[in-house]
Amino acid sequence: TQQTLAALKETDQQIGAFLTLNEEQALAAAKAVDEEGIDPDNLLAGIPIAIKDNIMTKGLRTTAASKILANFTPVYDATVMKKIYANDMIVIGKTNMDEFAMGGSTENSAFKITKNPWDTTKVPGGSSGGSAAAVAAGMVPFALGSDTGGSIRQPASFTGVVGMKPTYGRISRWGLIAFGSSLDQIGPFARNIKDNAALLNILVGKDEHDGTSVDGYPADFTANLTAGVKGMRIGLPKEYLGAGVQKEVKQAILAAADKYRELGATVDEVSLPHSKYGVAAYYIISSSEASSNLQRFDGIRYGVRSKDARNLNDVYVRSRTEGFGPEVKRRIMLGMYSLSAGYYDAYFKKATQVRTLMQQDFTNIFKDHDLILGPVAPTTAYGIGEDSDDPLTMYAGDVLSVPVNMAGLPGLSLPAGFASGLPIGMQLIGKPFAEATLYQAGYAFE
Ligand code: GLN
Repeated sequence: TQQTLAALKETDQQIGAFLTLNEEQALAAAKAVDEEGIDPDNLLAGIPIAIKDNIMTKGLRTTAASKILANFTPVYDATVMKKIYANDMIVIGKTNMDEFAMGGSTENSAFKITKNPWDTTKVPGGSSGGSAAAVAAGMVPFALGSDTGGSIRQPASFTGVVGMKPTYGRISRWGLIAFGSSLDQIGPFARNIKDNAALLNILVGKDEHDGTSVDGYPADFTANLTAGVKGMRIGLPKEYLGAGVQKEVKQAILAAADKYRELGATVDEVSLPHSKYGVAAYYIISSSEASSNLQRFDGIRYGVRSKDARNLNDVYVRSRTEGFGPEVKRRIMLGMYSLSAGYYDAYFKKATQVRTLMQQDFTNIFKDHDLILGPVAPTTAYGIGEDSDDPLTMYAGDVLSVPVNMAGLPGLSLPAGFASGLPIGMQLIGKPFAEATLYQAGYAFE
């Protein structure tokens, strides 16, 4: 822990992955683990981990990278944090992100820009860009992120690490600052498949505080890693290699398909016909849910209160005006609009119908396929500042990641090559609760 903190402080001057360090408590926790002695069955004891700053950590500042929570220290731990502590992992600090997880480059943070460790002129992806960059730069071996429409998989892809977005319900969302509650999942980042699976092992399970969480199987995601892919049926959606996908990204995915064939799997073309509506439907549903979830930030109960307010209404208006950044305001307005009486049928209801069609697309493929292979994002990491003032271009970059959240499926992002020195990520998508199959196929490729 001492070494990690010392090296990290040096490296993070260039990268900017962390918002808050947990130095004192981390050292004390490590000392306690030393004194207790490490349980030989506990692979993760004493190992440092970084936590995305939208996950509640008792006694440790939690901002969701928003000015409105700049001074907020939670009084309770998220369920995942209880599990991390119960396994004697050492929490090193909280990582930068797009404000309230809204974005794909970490440029929407109210506090700082995080740089891609492979090329510091490029973004690390987002919204969990700090967690991905911290692992990619070797500052920590593990991190937690959250994924509403790609926020674990896309930064994993941009930084060349392994990121898992688990099945909806696999991990409790209690203590995750809610964005789109029907889409959000917490998940692990690690340097390789085996580490990632070992971390998922301790995060899962039913929690009485989250009614959507379930007890799943198997007990150990690392158990089948070496089983190979012989006989596996893999589908390659034609929509995932179409226009807008960078040439090198497409080549890397086709090469991965060939490698899977060599390893004994079958790979054939499949179709996700409704995926082209995915971005539109996702932004309506996620913004609608966000506009409801973010009502709690009113300047009264927690967070920053405007100093200039003269009456109650003024407290709400000024605290929110000063506290929320432009992207968050845009989503609240979009969400309120699509939920309002006159527009509900045309927008929100329509988007939920599209969501059902997208789910059916996947169900059809999984009738005779074990998994789906494709890119995570259409391109490799782009330049800092390149797209940041153009929300629609940013949203379009989510086209390959949001279908997984719309259908509640598990999605694994793992490195599949490089283009001009930047990592290319590939995505494996599985049936509900088939994370073990994804890890198995990922391990065979790795
Ligand atoms: N980029 C997407 C968005 O801005 C996804 C974010 C996420 O998964 N949290 O909504």
